[in-house]
Formats: sequence, structure tokens, C-alpha cells
Amino acid sequence: MISLNDITLTFPDGDERITAVDNVTLTAHPGTVTGITGPSGSGKSSLLAVAATLIRPDSGQVLIDGVDATALAPREATELRREQIGIVFQQSNLIPSLTAHEQLTVMNELGARHSRGRRTAVAKRSRELLDAVGLAPHADKRPHQLSGGQRQRVNIARALMNEPSVLLIDEPTSALDQERGASIIELILRLTGDLKTSTLLVTHDLVHLPQMHAGVTLVDGRIVDGLPRSASTSVRADLGAVAS
Ligand code: ADP
Ligand code: MG
Repeated sequence: MISLNDITLTFPDGDERITAVDNVTLTAHPGTVTGITGPSGSGKSSLLAVAATLIRPDSGQVLIDGVDATALAPREATELRREQIGIVFQQSNLIPSLTAHEQLTVMNELGARHSRGRRTAVAKRSRELLDAVGLAPHADKRPHQLSGGQRQRVNIARALMNEPSVLLIDEPTSALDQERGASIIELILRLTGDLKTSTLLVTHDLVHLPQMHAGVTLVDGRIVDGLPRSASTSVRADLGAVAS
């Protein structure tokens, strides 16, 4: 479970500071996807970076399974991130020379103890995850041999390697057509249910929001709208107003 408690984040902007995230409070429970939407520049990626413990907020708390990440020393925060948080960044960062299988295993081999048992376990986990995202037949292909949707599936599988309790995903469908985008969202919903992650999913593709368990809309860093699932019709109307 992840709780963001009254998060404010500012960036220097000339002589002043720009408020990217403004007093945001949000909780995501295991097995649920919370959508975060809003116009470009509204603070969605900044909020995700705070949730990922990559940026320390000016104020507020980030609770990951009850641990306040903002109170940890940098080294402890790094460990928490590696063990508890899966991150899929907006820009794909697959390594061109590695196969899909190697994209998943390489992080676990760097800096880890090189016992044979551990390597076997990592390889097994990779095969299972590639299977779960529908890429078992493509495990030995490199990024240039995969479609955009398949590369996004590799990104998602890689984020799940360490069995994170929190999954953070930034605009996974922005480079995909409607059909491939919809199947990525479906995949995220299914994996979240199966693996019981607490998932925050940034998207500005409003058609996907009614499928999610909860959602918020950001404007100028502030939450302007909760999106209870039961209100999906009126929510879509509201979102149309926000987006236009
Ligand atoms: P979104 O993901 O919703 O498009 P961002 O979180 O990227 O929005 O940006 C929110 C605001 O914070 C914008 O005004 C953006 O220019 C600013 N911002 C984001 N990252 C930085 C940064 N590293 N330094 C300065 N300003 C930033
Ligand atoms: Mg963004």
C-alpha cells in the first residue's frame, strides 16, 4: 500500500519557485489501480517521482507499506525503492543490445551475490513474467525486433522482477494506437489483481479511466476531482470539460 500525505513539491524557476505538486493526498490499496490524469504540466510525473522516492518533496509524507520514505537516509530509500517499488518511466529505457529476457535479469545480476541458485531463481522469475505479459515466444528478441506495445510489456515485466508491493507507471499508452493502448491497460489491471500491487497509473487517455478502481485529476499540481468508479458516466463528462 502507498499513501501520499499532503505532498507539496516545488522546483526553482528563475528567482522564484514553481509549485509542481500542491498539497496532494492519495492512497492506493493492494490489488487496485488508481488513475492519475490531468493536462500536460499538471504535475503527474512529478507526483510519480515523489511516490517513487526519486525526489524528496518540500513537505508531506510518502508511506510505503507504513514506512515513511521521506524520513529515510538516501541509502535506505534506495533499498526501499529496489525492494518495494516497480517503476515504468514515461520514456522507455530498454538497453538496445539486450534481449527481453536479459532486460529483466541484468538488474538483478548487477551488484548481487553471484550464487548459482540466485541466478537460476532470477532467470525463472524472468521467464514467468515474460509469459505473464504474453511475450514468452519473444524472450530472446532485442528491442528493435519488438513492436512498441511489446517493448512496453517488457518495461512492465521488468518493473515487477523484485515482486514490488507498489507499481508506478507513467503514460504507458502515449506512444501506442488505441487498440494496443487498451491491451496495455488491460494487462496492468490484470497484473495488479494477480500480484496484488498497489498501482498508480498516469494517463491522459481518458477512455481508460472508468476501468480503474479510483482516480484523481490534477490541474496545476492540485487534485480537482476524485473519480469514484460508480460515477463513471458523469466523471467522463467532467473530464471532457477538464480536457477541453
Ligand atoms: P506532467 O507530467 O503532468 O506533464 P510534470 O510533473 O512533468 O507534469 O511538470 C509539472 C510542472 O513542474 C511543470 O510546470 C514543469 O515545467 C515543472 N517541472 C517538472 N520537472 C521539473 C524540473 N526538474 N525542474 C524544474 N521544473 C520542473
Ligand atoms: Mg509527465
